[in-house]
Amino acid sequence: MIAAQLLAYYLTELKDDQVKKIDKYLYSMRFSDETLKEITQRFRRELVKGLGRDTNPTAVLKMLPTFVRSIPDGSEKGDFIALDLGGSNFRILRVRVSHEKKQTVQMESQIYDTPEDIIHGSGTGLFDHVAECLGDFMEKHNIKDKKLPVGFTFSFPCQQTKLDEGFLITWTKRFKTSGVEGMDVVKLLNKAIQKRGVRYVFLCLGTGTNACYMEELRHIDQVEGDEGRMCVNTEWGAFGDDGRLEDIRTEFDREIDRGSLNPGKQLFEKMVSGMYIGELVRLILVKMAREGLLFEGRITPELLTKGKLETKHISAIEKSKEGLTKAREILTRLGVEPSHDDCIAVQHVCTIVSFRSANLIAATLAGILLRLKENKGVARLRTTVGIDGSLYKMHPQYARRLHKTVRRLVPDSDVRFLLSESGSGKGAAMVTAVAYRLAEHSREIAQTLSEFRLTTEQLLDVKKRMKTEIQNGLSKSTQDSATVKMLPTFVNSTPDGSEHGDFLALDLGGTNFRVLLVKIRSGKRRTVEMHNKIYAIPLEVMQGTGEELFDHIVQCISDFLDYMGMKNARLPLGFTFSFPCRQTSLDAGILVTWTKGFKATDCEGEDVVGLLREAIKRREEFDLDVVAIVNDTVGTMMTCAYEEPTCEIGLIAGTGSNACYMEEMRNIEMIEGDEGRMCVNMEWGAFGDNGCLDDIRTEYDRAVDDLSLNPGKQRYEKMCSGMYLGEIVRNILIDMTKRGFLFRGQISETLKTRGIFETKFLSQIESDRLALLQVRSILQHLGLDSTCDDSIIVKEVCGVVSHRAGQICGAGMAAVVDKIRENRGLDHLDITVGVDGTLYKLHPHFSGVMIQTVKELAPQCNVNFLLSEDGSGKGAALITAVGCRLRQELNNK
Ligand code: ADP
Ligand code: MG
Repeated sequence: MIAAQLLAYYLTELKDDQVKKIDKYLYSMRFSDETLKEITQRFRRELVKGLGRDTNPTAVLKMLPTFVRSIPDGSEKGDFIALDLGGSNFRILRVRVSHEKKQTVQMESQIYDTPEDIIHGSGTGLFDHVAECLGDFMEKHNIKDKKLPVGFTFSFPCQQTKLDEGFLITWTKRFKTSGVEGMDVVKLLNKAIQKRGVRYVFLCLGTGTNACYMEELRHIDQVEGDEGRMCVNTEWGAFGDDGRLEDIRTEFDREIDRGSLNPGKQLFEKMVSGMYIGELVRLILVKMAREGLLFEGRITPELLTKGKLETKHISAIEKSKEGLTKAREILTRLGVEPSHDDCIAVQHVCTIVSFRSANLIAATLAGILLRLKENKGVARLRTTVGIDGSLYKMHPQYARRLHKTVRRLVPDSDVRFLLSESGSGKGAAMVTAVAYRLAEHSREIAQTLSEFRLTTEQLLDVKKRMKTEIQNGLSKSTQDSATVKMLPTFVNSTPDGSEHGDFLALDLGGTNFRVLLVKIRSGKRRTVEMHNKIYAIPLEVMQGTGEELFDHIVQCISDFLDYMGMKNARLPLGFTFSFPCRQTSLDAGILVTWTKGFKATDCEGEDVVGLLREAIKRREEFDLDVVAIVNDTVGTMMTCAYEEPTCEIGLIAGTGSNACYMEEMRNIEMIEGDEGRMCVNMEWGAFGDNGCLDDIRTEYDRAVDDLSLNPGKQRYEKMCSGMYLGEIVRNILIDMTKRGFLFRGQISETLKTRGIFETKFLSQIESDRLALLQVRSILQHLGLDSTCDDSIIVKEVCGVVSHRAGQICGAGMAAVVDKIRENRGLDHLDITVGVDGTLYKLHPHFSGVMIQTVKELAPQCNVNFLLSEDGSGKGAALITAVGCRLRQELNNK
């Protein structure tokens, strides 16, 4: 009895002795709380650096925004396949996540063999095998025809940059397949399964070390928006890559690093992760043996072989009861013939190395927790940390040590540690589901919007088609069926500066109806003085009878004349009427068709000047001399030409879209005479009405068209003018909401309201000076309850729609300038375009994109754009003046 006690005492002494010896030997791997606190502080500084806009590019912690606001948010649902390769078994799972009332997860799984010859064979062989098993699984479960997304849990160290890309750094465990290291395993897998009706592969990695946490959005400079929180992936394995951990790294850490595939990288990871713990211990044992401190100096080839000590061995050796026996077994297998002392010493080496890992993880975790505490501004932090990883799960002491250290480093806290359930497959399925939801959403959003991004080839095609349509409109044989009508305006020349007099002008066809008095003075000091009054045209008048419409117009003129005190003046009048009219003279125009918001009856096919004159007569109150009917494009061109003689094109980018230009008389086959030029009102808004643009029209363009007053008509205009851009955006938003990408899938009454999304909101939302929060408030103002993520998407949607508008408008203009250049047989043309329209004037990007497109598509033309000042008023007066002069000349003959 006494002998036994003595022996036990002696053994304890001996153990203490050994332990003290090792403690001393590995002094640099044991950290005081002071050192750990210092590491925590360093880590916190790195966090801040990684979050900052200016500091992020050089920061070692990449702090990747995940765009995950909650994991999971309960909206995940669907049918997924999960491949689990790298665990003890190769498993394939089918996971169905549904959420009727409560989220439920249904799983079926099957284990497949991975024969040795495949594990040690070629990469192609391995992935073919995986694909084959997958095929078998899908067949057995009758899901061959379903295109299911696949989550790929691949538990080997990978360099992952995206959800669906991962480069294998090195095989571990029993795998040693050739030709895979350094390759993107997702790509390899995709290649192998391409033919199996699988939709998309994601990667869910299983080893290494990393941490993510919910950071306040206002602190994440990489992401716009400042409300709420987002999960940030710290990629903390890279902590220390800038040399900041040199003082605590040991010669063993350096050796591990030197022998790794990525020297100098992931230095923190190499000190803490399960992948390296076994190797660290092995290197220490080698050195100690070399110095004669262990195994009586015996060194065996096994001991010298990389990878012979694995994390699972360390776990076994550290078990409290059978640890020493395990140590003896494992060391014996290495051939070093360990003594009892050796076993005690090795056990203690393991303890120090794994303890250091737990301490370091605790220090960085404390950094995150302290930051959370600060973010929340609470005196006591209550939070839960979800942890996964084999070291944490399998190692007998690791979790307990980690918890204890964290609690010491973050004293005022209640931190709960929750083991993630990924082992059961549910966690993996949820990761896949969340990842799938996010990636699929952004992929589908990108795909939807990509239809709006036109290539230069497509734009050149649009230009070419416009040229063809212009030709069709000009030629007698094709005029009747032409979509771009190329209407002669009987305006033969731009102003020469001699125009003068007082004129009335009417401006009908835009957002506002206006009556104007324009006083033009010629001579040395040319001046144009204008007075105008805006009148509303109620919707019921716009879409009532023709008589009502023209009576209303005359009523407004009457009011204006009263207002100006000139009822009896009988002034010449120019009528800016911005709809397609077939003119037979300057003062006669038959309305071809209403466009934009107008649909009054009994007008199409009638001479609108006649309709106006009749209405004046009906009123029997005053008399007017209607001299000219003017399209707003022509008025715009004339106004600019009055200042700038090279202006021979007019463009409107407002409610509608249209252009006019000076065409050679010889080309206008509908009009007698070959001499000189005449301005042609192109009515290009109808471009595409014969289907020639259908290949670039999207389902949203078709939806806008279908719901419009004139379905099938003005297809080009409906892609690029103010009246429709907002509607296109609204239709996209509705679709994206239906598909669950926006507004939490809730289509509000507001969003269903036609016209709610005015084009002016596009201008506001796309303004570069606007912060995301302001975008959000605009949307909220519209009754669209949006998150910051929603706002980002809405802004992108607005961006592609207006960008395309600018591009195709530019493509049309490129066709026009090139036509003029060719008419004149020039290699190079300098020309000015007079432009009017609120879209052009106020949208932050439309005009720039349009001008750039013209430049690219018509390189032989130097096109100058000149903003017109009230072309519809001033231009109409100028044309009326020209008309009066011509009439006088005719009378004098
Ligand atoms: P019109 O073409 O009707 O004669 P405008 O040139 O003023 O008149 O264009 C009005 C159209 O411009 C509106 O119908 C609207 O679609 C669009 N719009 C209004 N405000 C803005 C804005 N801030 N940015 C872009 N487009 C706008
Ligand atoms: Mg206008």
